[in-house]
Amino acid sequence: MPPHNTKETANMAFSAEVTCRHGGETLTSCYQCGTCASSCPVARLDSRFNPREILKLSLLGEKEEVLSGAAIWLCTSCFNCQERCPQDVEIADVIYALRNIAIEAGHSPNIYADFGAALVADGRIVAISKFVEKKREEYGLPPLKPVGVEALNKILTATGFTKPEKTEASQ
Ligand code: SF4
Ligand code: SF4
Repeated sequence: MPPHNTKETANMAFSAEVTCRHGGETLTSCYQCGTCASSCPVARLDSRFNPREILKLSLLGEKEEVLSGAAIWLCTSCFNCQERCPQDVEIADVIYALRNIAIEAGHSPNIYADFGAALVADGRIVAISKFVEKKREEYGLPPLKPVGVEALNKILTATGFTKPEKTEASQ
C-alpha cells in the first residue's frame, strides 16, 4: 500500500536510505524487543545511549535527531547486541551506516576530523608514543614499521575517503 501521508513517506525514506547502505540492510527487521539494550555495556554506563532507541528513531524517520545527536558515536562496536538479537539485526553495522550518513551530512564529533587528518598525514589515527615504543621493547616486541602513507592515500582516494570537517565549536 502506498504511504498515505508526508510523515509516513519521510519514515520510509530514511529507513530506505539506511537499508541501502552497507551495514544498514537489516534495520527494518527490528521489532523493538529491547534485547540489544539489555545486552549493551555502554547503555549500562551512559543513559544517553540505548541501541533499541536509535533503531526506533531511525525506523520512525527521525533523521535529524539520529544524525545530529551524540548517541550514534557512543557505540564501542563490542557486538554483544548483535550476537543476541533474535531478529539477526546487525545493530553495530547499522550504527556504522548511520555514522557514515551523519558524516556526509556534516555531523560528526571533532575527534573524527582529527582521526581523519592523522590518517592522511601519518597513516595512523593515533600516533605511536614513546611510552608504547618502550613497552614494546620491554615485552620483546619488534618496533612498529613505518606506514606506507603514499600507498595508503592512493587507497583512500580510490575508495572516496574524504576527511570529516570539524563541525563542533572548539572548547
Ligand atoms: S535486539 Fe534486535 S529486534 Fe530486539 S530491539 Fe534490538 S535490534 Fe530490535
Ligand atoms: S555493539 Fe554498540 S550497541 Fe551493541 S552492545 Fe556493543 S556498544 Fe552496545
